[in-house]
Amino acid sequence: MTQNSTASPDVLVIGGGLVGSAVAYGLAREGARVTVLDEDDGGFRASRGNFGLVWIQGKGYGLSPYARWSRSSAQRWPLLAQSLVDEARVDVALRQPGGFHICFSDEELAERHKRLSTLQAEIGDYPFELLNHSELRERLPGIGPAVVGASYTPMDGHVNPLKLLRALHVAMQRRGVRLVSGERAERIAAGPGGFSVQGRRGVYHAARVVLAAGLGNRALAPHVGLNAPVAPNRGQVLVSERVEPFLRYPTINVRQTDEGTVQFGDSMEEAGFNDFTTTPILRQIAARGVRAFPMLAHVRLVRMWAALRVYSPDGFPIYDQSEAHPGAFVVTCHSGVTLAAAHALRIAPWITGGPMPAELPAFSARRFATDAAAEPILAH
Ligand SMILES: Cc1cc2nc3c(=O)[nH]c(=O)nc-3n(C[C@H](O)[C@H](O)[C@H](O)COP(=O)(O)OP(=O)(O)OC[C@H]3O[C@@H](n4cnc5c(N)ncnc54)[C@H](O)[C@@H]3O)c2cc1C
Repeated sequence: MTQNSTASPDVLVIGGGLVGSAVAYGLAREGARVTVLDEDDGGFRASRGNFGLVWIQGKGYGLSPYARWSRSSAQRWPLLAQSLVDEARVDVALRQPGGFHICFSDEELAERHKRLSTLQAEIGDYPFELLNHSELRERLPGIGPAVVGASYTPMDGHVNPLKLLRALHVAMQRRGVRLVSGERAERIAAGPGGFSVQGRRGVYHAARVVLAAGLGNRALAPHVGLNAPVAPNRGQVLVSERVEPFLRYPTINVRQTDEGTVQFGDSMEEAGFNDFTTTPILRQIAARGVRAFPMLAHVRLVRMWAALRVYSPDGFPIYDQSEAHPGAFVVTCHSGVTLAAAHALRIAPWITGGPMPAELPAFSARRFATDAAAEPILAH
């Protein structure tokens, strides 16, 4: 890839959320010249509204390459976080002490056992523990009487997701990536020399193009012979005032951030493109958090929001290169925080011409052509 030419970039990335930015940063690490086109705040932006977990446990039930893929990302996260400190001077507050999935019924705990033991049998190296109430209380002293137990794996963690987005933007630009904000890609045409992207403000050319536009991928993919049947799934989140440190570990629904606030999450709702909050759902989220940690009944809530996840029909990522137009790629998933390290350090080298990571064939959208009735398998 040419590093110093003033002509077109080697790669155009459409979308500057967590997925596009991680890929663009990784491409720049590979020496590629990259331009990122990112629509303005009027677009849907999951990267600015998520829960911040780097979460592995339970993922890949029904598609074990996803378990391996997620794990490989978690293992590369320390390298990504350190690189972002070195290059962007931003500490994204990565903590990977392991995480708890808190259960409120025996049935829920049994379901955790089934899911995690199946994954362990398939993956091999997949440590987990199931804890009853008193065992859990020794690790998380604040849990309430309604908690029956929890599953724990040492593989899980969390970060500050807004610092992550900021760090990726700074680091990629320091490596020469051009970020064109407020530019919406309208059309993509494939030609002999590569791809032309018609934006609202101009036309952009490159030998390769990466669709990383979140929910925007659905409309863009057919322009280059790709398929990205993603749809919105709404999540609502609450955040409290800062409180004394009380929770060293992330849990699936409650976590204390590096800044001391407590996040309560997060619903999973089919609400179309409606990204408004609703009081009944927020009430449920708060009540679940207080059942888990009764002391939280006394903290003040300071903010709430809703954002739209980018969901494929089975909940797993879509990674493809176009057969009709090689050089056009789609990269989309619903766990863009967890997978940021895999996107920067494994997907980007593939896009620049390196070997395809072994897990990737499982994530082609061709699976939807033969499995149109796939039931969603929702894993956080
Ligand atoms: C409530 C909630 C909680 C979540 N919790 C977690 C979690 O704990 N851990 C985790 O790993 N993940 C979590 N996620 C998922 C995570 O936030 C997403 O996977 C990730 O943000 C997706 O990033 P993205 O870049 O694909 O999409 P987006 O953030 O939506 O970014 C897409 C970008 O593309 C731009 N765009 C769209 N169309 C065009 C176009 N035509 N031209 C130019 N630009 C365009 C948009 O403006 C946007 O900036 C959560 C999501 C939600 C909503």
